[in-house]
Amino acid sequence: MSDKLYIIPNPPTPNKAVEFNPDICIGCNLCVNVCPTDVMMPNPQKGKQPIVVYPEECWYCAGCVEECPYPGAITMLHPTQQRISVNWKRKETGKYFRLGMKNPPPPNTRPPSG
Ligand code: SF4
Ligand code: SF4
Repeated sequence: MSDKLYIIPNPPTPNKAVEFNPDICIGCNLCVNVCPTDVMMPNPQKGKQPIVVYPEECWYCAGCVEECPYPGAITMLHPTQQRISVNWKRKETGKYFRLGMKNPPPPNTRPPSG
């Protein structure tokens, strides 16, 4: 069979599932091989970082990050709505806190407005 097969990125996709650090990544493609949904493809240039082709297929399972032997070479980029656990800020004091922290603040018992 002489037909060529092409993989083309999906330009309208709004998210970026993962990001590579080209200074650390050696293009070993372990992350590509472990991905259950084939989000990435090997870079045609040997030794270069993989190419994210189908970010909309990402499960955010972090298998690629776990598999990478070079810390910092690949980073998850979670969608904004999934990053709300980062920090909450108290209006009164301006103090930041996290849900699930050791001494959590009391629950909000104020009745809903209106
Ligand atoms: S991110 Fe890590 S696992 Fe993936 S190609 Fe680069 S070095 Fe290899
Ligand atoms: S987080 Fe999981 S699904 Fe997404 S690119 Fe990495 S291995 Fe693939």
